[in-house]
Amino acid sequence: MMAAVSSPDCDRAEVSQTVDIKEKALSLGANLVGIADLDLLRGIDCQPADLLNSYDYAISMAVKLPNAIFEQLDDRPTPHYARVYQQVNILLDHVALQLSSYIEDLGYRSLPIPASQLLDMEKLNSHLSSKAVANVAGLGWQGKSLLIVTPEYGPRVRFVTLLTDMELDADSPLKNSCGSCHFCADACVAQAIRNVPTEFHYADREEALDFKKCSDKLLTEFMLIPNVEAPICGICIKVCPWGRQLKKRG
Ligand code: SF4
Ligand code: SF4
Repeated sequence: MMAAVSSPDCDRAEVSQTVDIKEKALSLGANLVGIADLDLLRGIDCQPADLLNSYDYAISMAVKLPNAIFEQLDDRPTPHYARVYQQVNILLDHVALQLSSYIEDLGYRSLPIPASQLLDMEKLNSHLSSKAVANVAGLGWQGKSLLIVTPEYGPRVRFVTLLTDMELDADSPLKNSCGSCHFCADACVAQAIRNVPTEFHYADREEALDFKKCSDKLLTEFMLIPNVEAPICGICIKVCPWGRQLKKRG
């Protein structure tokens, strides 16, 4: 832990360390990186419950999914989509492990959280919500689909989290910019998205989503598709206009 008293020199050191860490994350293969102040996430569901106790900041990193993979999706995930999804998770874990080692070599604590390790298949929970961390780290807002929508790639990204006690300069959460859009609610294959607006984030996931309808679709139908075999969908990711902007750029 660093000293609690802040001075201009101390602030400059934090900014410089933060720039270094962000450049390192990007050089390792992340497309986006942000810093979350863990004080804004105390009390969040974690496994184990004291997971955040020894840490002050979380580094959130995103890797984008290729646009072309979404052109395959109609009303269900394909084996190809499932494989790309898995490969991006492996890349995220690889980036987080290497950044963790870099931070430890600088003399700080660092714990990478696996990108997609589900601990509770019913609730689809992991050690820590990477989406909640990405939101607090300013990488994107919590959309009506509960996906994190990034200004750069929409929701066509996957996230990984790394906890650290290194003193860093935290980013600020983004305001919701869904506006009057309801593409994801219209396209949802389980009619689960409630099309409820919010300014920053929802009180809980039920406010935005009928979670049971969504999870039933994923667990009892999509997960049984040969060579998919994971609780994934992709449809609300595909239709978000913030992600589809990429097609015009690319
Ligand atoms: S993941 Fe699929 S079922 Fe769940 S909210 Fe998105 S479109 Fe609907
Ligand atoms: S599809 Fe529209 S409403 Fe849904 S998350 Fe994207 S911007 Fe928000």
